[in-house]
Amino acid sequence: MFCPNCKAELKKAVFYNTEVSYCPKCLGIWFDFDQLNRAKDEKDKDLNWLDIDLWEDQTKFKIAKKDKLCPVCSVPLYSVSYGDSDIEVDVCNLCHGIWLDRGEFKKIINYLEEKGKKEVLHSYFKNLLQEGIEIFTGPQSFREEIFDFLTLIKFLNYKFSVQYPNIKEIIARLPY
Ligand SMILES: [Zn+2]
Ligand SMILES: [Zn+2]
Repeated sequence: MFCPNCKAELKKAVFYNTEVSYCPKCLGIWFDFDQLNRAKDEKDKDLNWLDIDLWEDQTKFKIAKKDKLCPVCSVPLYSVSYGDSDIEVDVCNLCHGIWLDRGEFKKIINYLEEKGKKEVLHSYFKNLLQEGIEIFTGPQSFREEIFDFLTLIKFLNYKFSVQYPNIKEIIARLPY
């Protein structure tokens, strides 16, 4: 698999049972749809992040075809942005994987911080990480951000992947 940005070969990192691929050059991250689904956890039902607006309202999606190619299917990715959040993720209409540029990773974490959700999530993940941190493999730059990473995986899983049917529909209506 190759990076949609710089074509470098993607490497694997594992975060608490969830495998992701990342680009060693630009540190963009590829989330496989199945891997996100595997990150589902019964305990998450207690979390109050569901009241965060991001990706909740399908009428706020703005979708456009990109030049970047899916590292799995080699078809163009679609950028999905939301309302005025300034956050943009790239999705594959075939395999439903998600590509996140490094900057978008940070934006999502900043967004959660702004909404006062980040600390809640971090304390939640502290318990999980008692064991999880030991099975982490990946570069140091991600290791320092492991809470952010876990937050992101759960967030994508709960707030973004449920919108795939709507995103697919919008893509089908695009004029090309
Ligand atoms: Zn790259
Ligand atoms: Zn794909």
